[in-house]
Amino acid sequence: MTEKNKMPDHVFDVVIVGGGPAGYTAGLYAARAGLRALLVEGVSTVSQITVTDWIENYPGVPEGASGFEIVEKFQKQAVQFGLQVTQADCTAVEAREWEGVRGWAVLSGERTFETLTLIVATGAHWRKLDVPGEESFTGRGVSYCATCDGPFYRNREVVVVGGGDTAVQEALFLTHFCSRVTIVHRRERLRAAAVLQQRAFANEKIAFAWHAVVEEVIGGDTVTGVRLRDVRDPGKTWDLAVSGVFVFIGLIPNSDLVKGQAELAEGGAILVDQQMRTSAQGLFACGDCTHKLLRQVVTACGDGATAAFASQLYVEDLKGTAY
Ligand code: NAP
Repeated sequence: MTEKNKMPDHVFDVVIVGGGPAGYTAGLYAARAGLRALLVEGVSTVSQITVTDWIENYPGVPEGASGFEIVEKFQKQAVQFGLQVTQADCTAVEAREWEGVRGWAVLSGERTFETLTLIVATGAHWRKLDVPGEESFTGRGVSYCATCDGPFYRNREVVVVGGGDTAVQEALFLTHFCSRVTIVHRRERLRAAAVLQQRAFANEKIAFAWHAVVEEVIGGDTVTGVRLRDVRDPGKTWDLAVSGVFVFIGLIPNSDLVKGQAELAEGGAILVDQQMRTSAQGLFACGDCTHKLLRQVVTACGDGATAAFASQLYVEDLKGTAY
């Protein structure tokens, strides 16, 4: 390292954007590798894991735990090894160069975080139904979080839309409060894991509306029902009286931050290679925001560890050759 191109002190080795399992695992590995690492957690966004009621397929935790408990432990462990954490909503990333050394700037209002490498672990958000009534009744009967809103529907009837792991798991959770939970699914076969399906089929409070989609959310001050449509017979609609509509129809990757900087797959997920490298130099991505087959806590953690290690190699290479 020469005096000439010594990095300014405020430049981190790695900045990680996102405070979910992928981000905190990247932070843990980066900190343990001795990198100057900062994790930026969103202020107005929450990681999906924090609102996940129960996780029972994270290895090593046979008794299961709430998503909140798990991520709290991730954070504690990473901070223990020297990860710095701050809260800010990041709005843009820009390439930077200091005397021939390339890096990144992460912008958040008046704050800017500069870094040699950037790991984007921004997760994903819930897909919406995009039907009349959905937006206007959000918070007044339409919800995307059973853990947050389930208790408001004690002894009420609700629908859960979707047939994946999230829909079935959250429907099971809602049976703790609701008198009846109808799963509305566009096919007659659930996509959820077999163990969840078995529990749902065995639960007397859960009913199914197969081959059905929500055409409209109806109500007055609050939701009073949904209009369903039979996908096999588009002319056939019927109304179901419910007080709540819980929508779990999949995820949309949060990739806006790197749009125009890194290559995205169709649908918006960030394209990464096996080392979690994006198409842009020094820019890595991991977890649910990336293009991948399986979105689980355990796969997010694996991605995060890989991204941190790859960024460590990149920084070491940069320090050995560029400085
Ligand atoms: P998902 O697996 O993508 O399932 C989405 C469900 O919504 C599917 O059943 C799909 O129907 C349906 N759907 C999609 N678009 C729709 C639309 N416009 N109208 C009506 N229905 C629609 O999403 P997810 O359940 O949120 O799971 C996301 C990821 O998280 C998955 O990788 C999942 O394994 C993981 N996850 C795991 C756990 C766990 O392990 N316990 C818990 C939660 C989530 P089709 O089936 O017809 O496509």
